[in-house]
Amino acid sequence: MTISDSTRTALHRETGLPVETNVQLAPYTTLKIGGPADFFIRAPDGVSLGHILTASVNLGLQVLVLGGGSNVVISDRGFRGLGIKVETRTSLRNRGTIVDEDGPGVVIQVEPGCQTAGIARWTAQAGWSGLDWACGIPGTIGGAIAGNAGAYDGDMKAVVNAVTYWSPAPTGIGSRSSHICTVSGNEMAFGYRTSRLKTPGSGVVLGAELRLGRATPTELQERIDRFETSRRARQPTERSCGSVFRNPPGMFAGQLVEQSGLKGHRFGDAQISLLHGNYIVNRGTATSHDIYSLIVAVRDRILRDTGIALETEVILAGDWPADEHAVGSDSANPMAEALHREANSRAEVTTTGVGERNG
Ligand SMILES: Cc1cc2nc3c(=O)[nH]c(=O)nc-3n(C[C@H](O)[C@H](O)[C@H](O)COP(=O)(O)OP(=O)(O)OC[C@H]3O[C@@H](n4cnc5c(N)ncnc54)[C@H](O)[C@@H]3O)c2cc1C
Repeated sequence: MTISDSTRTALHRETGLPVETNVQLAPYTTLKIGGPADFFIRAPDGVSLGHILTASVNLGLQVLVLGGGSNVVISDRGFRGLGIKVETRTSLRNRGTIVDEDGPGVVIQVEPGCQTAGIARWTAQAGWSGLDWACGIPGTIGGAIAGNAGAYDGDMKAVVNAVTYWSPAPTGIGSRSSHICTVSGNEMAFGYRTSRLKTPGSGVVLGAELRLGRATPTELQERIDRFETSRRARQPTERSCGSVFRNPPGMFAGQLVEQSGLKGHRFGDAQISLLHGNYIVNRGTATSHDIYSLIVAVRDRILRDTGIALETEVILAGDWPADEHAVGSDSANPMAEALHREANSRAEVTTTGVGERNG
């Protein structure tokens, strides 16, 4: 039996779930880019997700957690460890469970694999306000909470009441120790596109309670229609990973890219969207190397033109080559070096502290 076979058998034994090997991750991302994970497992709900993560620690496996894969660029070389696709039962895919609807608002429980846009629609139809901004956001609730997704002046921070998450550091003593913690929304350290679960080794969302207000379904639907019209006008329809760069304070990254004249710029099949400067689209056969090269080129140009060092919002996940550099960039280019260091640290984020590299 090979090491791969024995790890797969042990993972299956500990989780009771089917474990695949050498699975291409590209289909699990919105960019449709990314090489294979050594092992791959589908978590059918938050409870199973917790078991899988604990099993990974026991087996010394690094993990890459994927919700909708709508905010990641996975390396062409893939991921040396366990790729986990967070799913949910079909009946809970686009709806939560009501915890309390007697007060002025309503509290619902959601699974990490719920579709963010589906939950937004379901709550709007029920006349519960607070998530109407999220109707156009791809991906899962787990990914949205970890990254504090937001749009049109709304964000997850405003609705998260409590989060149950898997922590790499177990709390409690002896047989009472556990990797599972629950914290209030206030304890989530939410900020602009970040939370306590976005930092390296911090943990994985297993479920959450959302607190919503009340409004009429018609009122909410009108807001949703307005947001959808606005998105249609400014969001590319090609494959993308959403905003590539974080907006610097008081500015829009997309505007900086437009002003730099880089709209439409290409590396291979990766192109800066003609519609929105902060989107990179895959026009067909783009590789992660193409995307990476474009990111470096944009950062270099903006730094040169404005002195502003853009930071990536998108997560660069998986195993990036140690010598990865921008096509056409000087290998001594400090921005390429900086981005490469960032790529590595972002890859650490996705490993959630599991396995030896994270201590
Ligand atoms: C067309 C398009 C439009 C977009 N518009 C917006 C927008 O308006 N606003 C916005 O904020 N974002 C936007 N995005 C980005 C993206 O949709 C959001 O960030 C989304 O919330 C990511 O969720 P996901 O499940 O796809 O996460 P993934 O891409 O799967 O993962 C992103 C990161 O979160 C981690 N993660 C995933 N699940 C969990 C979990 N359960 N617990 C902890 N960590 C987890 C992953 O390991 C990874 O590090 C857009 C993307 C696209 C493609």
